[in-house]
Amino acid sequence: MIENLQTSDEQLLEKLINEKKEQKCVFESIINIESNDITKENANMNADTPAGMMMKFASEASKKFVDENLISKDVLEYVNNNKLHIHDKDYYPTKSLTCVQHPLDKVLTEGVIAGHASIRPAKHIETATILACISMETTQNEQHGGQSIPAFDFYMAPYVRNTYIEELKKIERLNNEDYSEYYNEELKDYLKKSLDGLTGIDRIKQAAMNETVRRVHQSMESFVHNMNNIHSRGGNQVVFSSINYGTDTSAEGRCVIREILNTTYEGVGNGETAIFPIQIFKIKTGVNYKPEDSNYDLYELSCKVTARRFFPNFINLDASFNQHELWKADDPKRYMYETVTMGCRTRLFENRFGPKTSIGRGNLSFTTINIVRCALECMNINDKNERIDTFFKKLDDCLVIAAKQLDERFQFQKTALAKQFPLLMSKLWIGSENLKSDDTIESVINQGTLGIGFIGLAECLVALIGKHHGESEEAQQLGLKIVTYMRDKVNEFSEKYQHNYSVLATPAEGLSGKFTKVDQKEYGKIPGVTDRDYYTNSNHVPVYFKISAKKKAEIEGPYHNLTRGGHIFYVEIDGDATHNPKVVMKVVDLMHKYDMGYGSINHNRSRCMDCGYENADKNMVVCPKCGSHNIDTLQRITGYLVGTTSRWNHGKLSELHDRTTHSVEK
Ligand SMILES: [Zn+2]
Repeated sequence: MIENLQTSDEQLLEKLINEKKEQKCVFESIINIESNDITKENANMNADTPAGMMMKFASEASKKFVDENLISKDVLEYVNNNKLHIHDKDYYPTKSLTCVQHPLDKVLTEGVIAGHASIRPAKHIETATILACISMETTQNEQHGGQSIPAFDFYMAPYVRNTYIEELKKIERLNNEDYSEYYNEELKDYLKKSLDGLTGIDRIKQAAMNETVRRVHQSMESFVHNMNNIHSRGGNQVVFSSINYGTDTSAEGRCVIREILNTTYEGVGNGETAIFPIQIFKIKTGVNYKPEDSNYDLYELSCKVTARRFFPNFINLDASFNQHELWKADDPKRYMYETVTMGCRTRLFENRFGPKTSIGRGNLSFTTINIVRCALECMNINDKNERIDTFFKKLDDCLVIAAKQLDERFQFQKTALAKQFPLLMSKLWIGSENLKSDDTIESVINQGTLGIGFIGLAECLVALIGKHHGESEEAQQLGLKIVTYMRDKVNEFSEKYQHNYSVLATPAEGLSGKFTKVDQKEYGKIPGVTDRDYYTNSNHVPVYFKISAKKKAEIEGPYHNLTRGGHIFYVEIDGDATHNPKVVMKVVDLMHKYDMGYGSINHNRSRCMDCGYENADKNMVVCPKCGSHNIDTLQRITGYLVGTTSRWNHGKLSELHDRTTHSVEK
């Protein structure tokens, strides 16, 4: 007995020593700015800078604390068995929520207290865009995920008019006249025009309009610059920012859309492609999708911009699951009923505990299941039906544990006090206006969602039946059965735990190679399953699989309705898309035809890291502008762009290398 005790004491001591050694190793690798998957877990962060390093030290130490103190034993077992991944685990002790769609109108009309001085409500377009920045930058430090503006056009529009009135007033003073009757006169469009040949009030109005357009353009430019350059997120990062727009048909809203697109097309600094904010254009029939729609010209412009700058992405409001019964074309607040997305793909709309809207809500936390692992564990079962049945049992276990874990985290999150998230829980989150600073956030956070994600459907299918869903109809049917099963279970969990659970087609970044590495070690390199350094994202057909854009849409389309926690459809276009915006429209048409919610188009863009020069030449080795050999490619990682692949982790780089293009029918 005593002997046993001694052994276990010795074992414990050895375990502690090993852990200390391991931690020392990790910390030293951060200090020595080594390039590994710990320092490159997140491509947005430069882990070589002091703030980035401090973030990594904290992050590594915090994850350990969570494992030991905040997660129950059975959950930890699934994590250690490589079946579950708890996202943003380092933030777990802070009780932070993932993301939010900002009701920016409240910030603009009420002002905010963000730091040491209260900021007054916005008056003109310049202050409105600065307040948009402040809102996202402040909240970014209160959350661990993305910040998004759901109706950028609608929110900014009133300040375009205010700016126009201000310009009229300037001329009024100059001419000593009264133009007040024109202040609120309805305008068709804000377009710059030459004053030549114009006289009287027409000349005055056009002069005011020209100045207004110039100021709107400049405000959009500075907004984009700020979002790319101000490192306001812990760890020396810029905000994970997104803006949604496209459906405001007023002259002012159209001016905002046009100028944000124009400035994006021009690029920032020396003409580089802006990485943030992720821009999302809302597609809707009757508003902008058909040639007869009032914002069709802006949809055309958005395709031209995307063909050159990767953004905007497109959200399809016509998708069956993105419609809202209360949406009306003449309702000035109709954006409340428009689905929006975080750029990375997080979507929320349905709500068991309040209004069906995206605004003022966000994801609370999400966890991903390694469904490949579940399949690997069944591969030695010879009988196919038995193999598949066993897989579903294993999947079921994972789902149950994932739901339990998310609820556990929720129970911990809800004990946070409103004052821990000063802006989020006073103004932005739905219902937070009723909270006092010492109240817990329990009464309001059930408005958010809990995401259960998955990775590697393609590899999972190969493990189970030898083919993935791009290759065989049988695999596609099984794939749909798997994700439908997940969807049904998630609905059961919502009833049982009384939360908004949803299935998420996980944007796997840090995770891309992590699961695979462990599975490969244990199962070896199984062709089509573990023989690469990454698992395919969520429900996508593998990036290396040759397939047309249309076929890809046909296969991936049905998964969008099943993954309402978020999804994305990608098409990789070959060659220079810059002069071919029509090809972008074709992709949007595919999204429309196959009932998909969110999509984006990738193409090649090489960038000189020294002077910022860019072109669409895949083989650029020398910069034609400055002669530098320091060339990198601009790429999309999980929905957002990264200006340099030097911050990509091993699994993600390997995936990038394998990407093949998808032909789009002319
Ligand atoms: Zn150059």
